[in-house]
Amino acid sequence: MATSVKLNTGADMPIVGLGTWKSPPGKVAEAVKAAISAGYRHIDAAYVYQNETEVGEGIQAMLKDGVVKREELFVVSKLWCTFHDKAAVKGACQKTLSDLKLDYLDLYLVHWPMGFKAGSELIPLDSEGLTINDETNFLDTWEAMEELVDCGLVKAIGVSNFNRPQLESLFNKPGLKHKPANNQVECHPYLTQDKLISYCQSQGVTLTAYSPLGSPDRPWAKPEDPSLLEDPNIKAIAQKHNKTSAQVLIRFHVQRNVIVIPKSITPHRIAENFQVFDFQLSDEEMKTVLGFNRGFRVCPMQWAVKHKDYPFNVEY
Ligand code: NDP
Repeated sequence: MATSVKLNTGADMPIVGLGTWKSPPGKVAEAVKAAISAGYRHIDAAYVYQNETEVGEGIQAMLKDGVVKREELFVVSKLWCTFHDKAAVKGACQKTLSDLKLDYLDLYLVHWPMGFKAGSELIPLDSEGLTINDETNFLDTWEAMEELVDCGLVKAIGVSNFNRPQLESLFNKPGLKHKPANNQVECHPYLTQDKLISYCQSQGVTLTAYSPLGSPDRPWAKPEDPSLLEDPNIKAIAQKHNKTSAQVLIRFHVQRNVIVIPKSITPHRIAENFQVFDFQLSDEEMKTVLGFNRGFRVCPMQWAVKHKDYPFNVEY
């Protein structure tokens, strides 16, 4: 089983990466070091996680110790919604690069299709609790993303949380210079994304699955929400393979050629989540797991439901 997925740029993207959302600044450098020591070569970061300086410290320590070389790592970051103005994109990317202490990113994603009002608030909200939006259009933002490739700050560009019509409008953009290499979306057995995966793969766009374990540490989790890690049906499959539920949840993506980025700050879990290349789910088990789909989203970004570019008002 391949341990990487080929991008439309020709680069290989490691199929399992470390997620870093909610990883506290005081813990994330150690998590990154533990991940690289355990064999990870892909780190998923973002400006909005407010920990890129410390992610960078972890990467830097491993580079300095000679554990890995820069060219062996695949580092991803994302343009936040308050930087969608064309004139803001390069500065946002340079800030991320300087925090990460890198001179290029392997992949830079437009984090969400929606633009928010620029300023110090990451999610500016009005009195009704809805996002204060700007007038930007992601097609224009994309042109500034393309320039980042052309000036060598990033090797590849992609998107995140884009639905099919949004991808289509990007592909059909007059003068499109660089097609997105990747779409990073929520994906797990309760949101299997069958149609979006087939569409992206048919277009040569790789897909990354975020919140693969169901994001149990998301700040808005409710006790009555379904739990993937506790699901008895997943546990039963895991037991059959002498693996953990987390390992089954990660392996599920690997077998669909979908990149997956479980987050952990716990060294033994970080190692566990990478031990997914020594077993295989049968076709029957894959079918069973796909049958758990229930359209359940852990990241609905509900504050932006009224935004013109909110992605989750269509089927996929
Ligand atoms: P995950 O589904 O990866 O779940 C993370 C949680 O699972 C943490 O509480 C972690 O605990 C726990 N955990 C990790 N491994 C295990 C294990 N083996 N056994 C039991 N529990 C475990 O959630 P995320 O939402 O963080 O998604 C992963 C990554 O995807 C993010 O960190 C981020 O990089 C990206 N992402 C991108 C988004 C986007 O809009 N593009 C949106 C959401 C996520 P602990 O850390 O305490 O070990």
